[in-house]
Amino acid sequence: MEQYDVVVIGAGAAGMFCAAEAGQGGCKVLLLDNGKKLGRKILMSGGGRCNFTNLYAEPAAYLSENPHFCKSALARYTQWDFIDLVTRYGIAWHEKTLGQLFCDDSAQQIVSMLEQECQKGQVTVRLRSEISAVEKTERGFNITLNGQDVSTHSLVVASGGLSMPGLGASPFGYRLAEQFGLKILPTRAGLVPFTLHKPLLDHLQTLSGVSVPSVLTAKDGTVFRESILFTHRGLSGPAVLQLSSYWQPGEFVSVNLLPSLDLAGFLNQQRQEHPNQSLKNTLSLHLPKRLVECLQTLEQIPDVTLKQLNPAQQSALVEQLQNWQVQPNGTEGYRTAEVTLGGVDTRALSSKTMVANAVPGLYFIGEVVDVTGWLGGYNFQWAWSSAWACAQDLIKM
Ligand code: FAD
Repeated sequence: MEQYDVVVIGAGAAGMFCAAEAGQGGCKVLLLDNGKKLGRKILMSGGGRCNFTNLYAEPAAYLSENPHFCKSALARYTQWDFIDLVTRYGIAWHEKTLGQLFCDDSAQQIVSMLEQECQKGQVTVRLRSEISAVEKTERGFNITLNGQDVSTHSLVVASGGLSMPGLGASPFGYRLAEQFGLKILPTRAGLVPFTLHKPLLDHLQTLSGVSVPSVLTAKDGTVFRESILFTHRGLSGPAVLQLSSYWQPGEFVSVNLLPSLDLAGFLNQQRQEHPNQSLKNTLSLHLPKRLVECLQTLEQIPDVTLKQLNPAQQSALVEQLQNWQVQPNGTEGYRTAEVTLGGVDTRALSSKTMVANAVPGLYFIGEVVDVTGWLGGYNFQWAWSSAWACAQDLIKM
């Protein structure tokens, strides 16, 4: 029977990085994936340019039932460490916005870098691997793989979450965790567009493609100052994706469509200077005209001139535009979600090494764990940091 020190299940961001680090640290490593390509999500990420980390990565940018869990790993392997690695490989990068770092050229460069790192660590890679059974043995674990048994001292589960089943996502990691008695916290799609109820959708559909810089506030007070995008199915854009991770079915979302404007002051000043100007044309100085027209059709903006706008209407308008309450119908779900919230309960894991406290030799890293980052490179940083923390423990064995 083939014997390894470490078997890593899942050749995504976390699995490849962990395998490479453990291999370079002297472990005999087998890296498995059910797909026919390494790092499929990396290739798709950041519009093909991979937003590989964020300059401002810090624990506050992560959601988890235990917000302290991610602290140790993020502090031990930081965004600067990964930037260092990328720079050593001569991969040119740039900050797009809000600390988000992207490859200048292509996400393929990150996958190639991780592949080379795996080669340096003499990692054996096996794609198209179907794992039918995992059993605990005295030495570690027995894995039945494409009908053959492989034995390993340590097993690292890096099989990701449920988002984008088309890219190989599967509940494998959750089932394996349950097999070994670990709790799985309820999962749901995150960083995902909202769908809307009719008739609101019918009206807003006409705005498909319109983007508006906004501020969205989550229920816990977390504020996202980014754009929202109207789509033919509902609402998307970075601010909406961010908020979706905080949203529960039935809740309203508060949207400030004019976050940088003292709207009441602006209307008063315009009224003095142009009393006969229509409210629609006045608002179109700061909002896309199509949006103003649409909100007028929805009777959220009165069809009046500035001098006709009475104080009650003005207050209602300010509320309407700066605290617009939208109730999503739902989300587009795992089909388009960038991440999966929930997963392996961190209370069962060591935050220092990612090992399952009750099952020596069994580790969970990356997205399969109940740690989910904001949009903007935070999820890859969690993949790198949790993988590195795990690899340090594997090397010690
Ligand atoms: P994954 O990268 O999902 O890897 C898991 C691997 O396990 C996959 O290769 C899968 O095929 C394999 N696997 C699953 N089940 C099995 C099984 N039964 N047997 C064997 N192998 C299995 N995050 C960012 O930080 N920046 C971005 O720019 C960004 N862009 C994204 C764009 C898209 C379209 C998507 C979907 C996500 C994006 N994310 C981004 C999120 C990021 O891709 C994930 O958080 C990250 O890939 C998680 O890494 P992981 O290694 O834990 O899981």
